[in-house]
Amino acid sequence: MPEGDSVFRAAAQLHAALAGRQLISSDFRVPRFATLKLDGWTVDEVVPRGKHLLMRLQGPSPADRLTVHSHLKMEGAWQIYPPGGRWRKPGFTARCVLSTAAADAVGFSLGILEVIRTAEEDSIVGHLGPDLLGPDWDPAEAERRIRAAPGVPIGVALLDQRNLAGIGNIYRCEACFLSGVHPASPVSAVADLPALISDAKALLEANLGPGRRTTVLNARGLPAGLPMGRTAGRSTYWVYRREHQPCLKCGTPVRRGVLGRATGTEERDIYFCPVCQPAA
Ligand SMILES: [Zn+2]
Repeated sequence: MPEGDSVFRAAAQLHAALAGRQLISSDFRVPRFATLKLDGWTVDEVVPRGKHLLMRLQGPSPADRLTVHSHLKMEGAWQIYPPGGRWRKPGFTARCVLSTAAADAVGFSLGILEVIRTAEEDSIVGHLGPDLLGPDWDPAEAERRIRAAPGVPIGVALLDQRNLAGIGNIYRCEACFLSGVHPASPVSAVADLPALISDAKALLEANLGPGRRTTVLNARGLPAGLPMGRTAGRSTYWVYRREHQPCLKCGTPVRRGVLGRATGTEERDIYFCPVCQPAA
């Protein structure tokens, strides 16, 4: 599952390469759209909505508007190449190739790839909660949606894109750590939910630039006395995938658990410090 920052960066790269340009060829390598040709269509814009990528195209007549909707899921990626450039991923994993005179955009291993009428985008992303990286971000609405199910574990609520859109497993674990909240604690037990949501947004925003993703050097909670140089080059995360390693705040070994089975949602690993994040 990608994090919202990956999708945001992918959209920005695609927008920079394609917006305002006409497609000279299109190749959809999925059965449902294999015969679709968008040659001559112009890319208006590429925007992220939570973890969804929406590429909006303008056809020959003003009424012709289509959206190429993709979702990266676990393994997906969009890459930009010079025309005819050699791909860095195996050709058989390519699902979509869109070419302009200046660039080829290739979508590999996309979890979702479909083309819909732009007017029908709401059927795809209308259910999403406020987008943490979107222009219409509304923290009060996100909080209201999360609080509507007070018994749900906070770690599950944060991943539910109907509550707020953009958090994947990394930021879910890291934001809970920064707030000192055990991910399995019910929503009702979280002392300061607005701060938790605000931390998650800050972590996503801190990672929109180039470079390796990290939550440690950018986070507000860098422990006093822990020199930046010590964390740099060691862990880039507080707890994520740091099972058995010492907590960067208190030294207690970080633990791994599983969250989701009891609530019927997708089961995912959680990482937490049993001392800094006592179970509620
Ligand atoms: Zn700790």
